Parts: sequence; C-alpha cells; structure tokens
Amino acid sequence: MENIDFDIAIIGAGPVGLALARALDRMPGPLPTVALFQADHPQMHNPASDTRVLALNHGSRVFLEQMQGWPDHFSPIRTVHVSQKGRLGRTLISHTDFDVPALGYVVPYRAIAARLHEQVNEGRTTRLAGAPATVTSRTTDGAASISQNGKTYRARIVVQCDGAKPDTRLRDYNQHAIITSARAELPRSDWAWERFTREGPLAVLPHPVFTDAQSIVWCTTPARARALLAADEATFSRALSEHFGDRLGPLTVLESRHIFPLALSVSKNTVDDRIVTIGNAAQALHPVAGQGLNLGLRDVGGLMGALQPWLLNPHQDPGPALRAFAGARRADRNITRQLTDLMPRVFTTGNPLIEHACGLSLLALDLTEPLRRPLARHLLQGYRN
Ligand SMILES: Cc1cc2nc3c(=O)[nH]c(=O)nc-3n(C[C@H](O)[C@H](O)[C@H](O)COP(=O)(O)OP(=O)(O)OC[C@H]3O[C@@H](n4cnc5c(N)ncnc54)[C@H](O)[C@@H]3O)c2cc1C
Repeated sequence: MENIDFDIAIIGAGPVGLALARALDRMPGPLPTVALFQADHPQMHNPASDTRVLALNHGSRVFLEQMQGWPDHFSPIRTVHVSQKGRLGRTLISHTDFDVPALGYVVPYRAIAARLHEQVNEGRTTRLAGAPATVTSRTTDGAASISQNGKTYRARIVVQCDGAKPDTRLRDYNQHAIITSARAELPRSDWAWERFTREGPLAVLPHPVFTDAQSIVWCTTPARARALLAADEATFSRALSEHFGDRLGPLTVLESRHIFPLALSVSKNTVDDRIVTIGNAAQALHPVAGQGLNLGLRDVGGLMGALQPWLLNPHQDPGPALRAFAGARRADRNITRQLTDLMPRVFTTGNPLIEHACGLSLLALDLTEPLRRPLARHLLQGYRN
C-alpha cells in the first residue's frame, strides 16, 4: 500500500514557502495535496516580526500580485544612484532606460509574509505548526518522510524552503547589515542610493510607508555594527549622515535598529531524489543589489513550471521533472550569486588601485550604455534564456 499523506510537503513558511503553497493552491486542474510545515518556536526566525525591507523587481511584483500576495504599502524606485565613498565614479540607472514604470519596489518583508499567510490560510493547504520539521529519511517506497512534534508524515516530494543552513555556508562576509529608517531633511521620493564603502555597501531606499523617510540597509564590520546598535539616536544619526554624505541633507533615525549577520550559503545539490531545495535554503546571498527573494521567487516559478506534467499524474517518478528544474535554474543562480558575491567585496579591499579601478568602472558604466544595460537588466529581471 502506498500510504502517502501529501503529494507535496513544503518545509518553511517564509515568503518562498508561502508563495509556493499559494501557487500550488491556484493551479488549474486536479489540485495536489499540500502540507506547509511551519516552525513556531521561540528560537526560530518568525516572519511576522522580521523588520527587513526588500527591494523587489517588476517580475516579483507581477508574480506576487497573481498570488494576491502583494502588500498595500510599497514604494517605487524610479532612479538608482550607485557611487563609491571617497571616489569620483558614479552611475545612474533610470526606469526610462528600460521603458518600465519603476526599476523596483521597496516592501516590508513581514507585509509580504502576512499577505501570503492570509491567502494560504483561506486555501486548501494543510498547515502544520510547532517544532522545526526534519526530513527523516530520504526515499522509501516512493515517498520521503518528515517528522514534526513526534509525528511522521510521508510525501511524494519535499520542498525545503527553510532558509540558510550553517553547513552550506561558503563565505562569511565579516559584515553585518543594520536595518532601520531615517527621516531626511531633503527627501527625494522614488530614488535609491547604493553607496560602496570600505566597510561594505550602504543602501538608502524610499520608505515603503512614510513618504518623507528612507529605509536604511547599512553593511559594516560586526564591531562597528554592534557599536552603532548601542549608540544613542543622535550619535547614530550623525554617523549615518556622515557615512552617506549630504545628498539628502542630515538624516535622523526613525525606527529601532536591527542587525543581520551576512554570509553566502549555497546548497551544491538542489535536488536529492524526491527532495528539492529552493529560496534561501538553496542560496542565501549578500543583500547588495537586493536579489535574494527575487531569485527565490524565480525558483518558485521555475519549480511550478517543471512540475506541471508530474502534477497531472503524481504516481509517476518526479525525478526527471526535478532534475530538469535544477538544470534550468543553474545559470540564474550562478550569475546572481557571482554578481552579489563580488560587489560587496571588491570595494572593501583597502587597496587604492583596486578602489580607483572600481570608481572608474562605475564611471564607465555610466558613460557606456552597452555595459550598463546588461548588468542593470540582470539585476532587474534575472536571467532569461
Ligand atoms: C538585510 C537583508 C536585506 C535583504 N534585502 C533584500 C532585497 O532588497 N531584495 C531581495 O530580493 N532580497 C533581499 N534579502 C534576501 C531575502 O530576505 C531572502 O532571500 C528571503 O527572505 C528568502 O526567503 P525564504 O522564504 O527562502 O527564507 P527565509 O526568509 O529565511 O524563511 C525561511 C523560514 O523557514 C523557517 N524554518 C527554518 N527551518 C525550519 C524547519 N526545520 N521547519 C519549519 N520551518 C523552518 C524559518 O523559521 C523561516 O521563517 C535581504 C536579506 C537580508 C538579510
């Protein structure tokens, strides 16, 4: 006897796991049985209290809108200004270069998670919450086993959307991101700044809720991040204004500060028999250029496409569909990972020659349309083959 509980078990209810559950629930035709395993544990990450803001591209917005997962509050980015602290080079990227209404949108992580939660709760997905779920055995008799709260479930396919793991860590960037927001004396709506410094990149983004405020993602050394976290508001605001420069006038911190340690994690094999890994569980990137969730949502889209034939008959072996998925996603994952891995490191070498070369390359990017377009297009849309 087959003794299967679910066609698909999704582990992890971050934005990627939720988006996949929602996409499976909206499919035309016979719906697969789906379970979403969520960790409700004080020591686990809780999407509802995550303070991150995310820059998402147009493709991610369209996808989330189709899932009814797009939040009410967001801010468009129409111009991106890229510069290097202490050097001349800079480049400007405008939405008019690409004939799109916006280069991207700033949205709160928890608003996306909350919206998708609501949608998934209204659908047919079985929600299983409690202790972190574990995949207990790879495959026996056409299924993989998952344990949670002392119970074991069997699923034909397991999709791991449970975020980055210590054992897939490839690089510690020796940087922490401080997330907060600040009010600018001379606010400029729709503009985003990415400023490369010797400590790490500083992103100043339009705030998704307050029109006269900016969201701040300040990457710096762990020691400085801890000092900045402990500093009083006036000291923090002065340090931020000095670090960013005077383009927006003095900046005054608005909200509490939170720290995220930054590392690159990459899972070598995204498919192991009936177990497939997507989103941050497959690759967790440096937040420079805001690529992680955009890439994770493309994983969801790619997996949905690859599974279509199998979903018509879930009794068949999903191996060919899963291997086709892994192959089709390889180039996008590699290019995005290499770009976001290089960018935060190349400006922090402390070597004046390299820094000067980087400044010149920003200038070259600004002056040379054929160079600027492919880079910006990849960051905007991801890999298209
Ligand atoms: C500072 C910062 C800024 C960023 N900015 C951007 C940006 O501008 N644009 C962008 O696209 N991306 C950005 N990212 C990346 C983005 O946040 C991630 O790519 C995205 O959150 C990945 O979603 P996910 O669902 O795969 O993983 P996660 O968000 O990590 O969610 C995974 C969930 O799985 C749960 N889980 C873990 N283990 C288990 C288990 N065993 N059982 C059940 N549940 C489990 C966790 O508790 C967690 O809630 C940024 C990241 C950081 C750190």
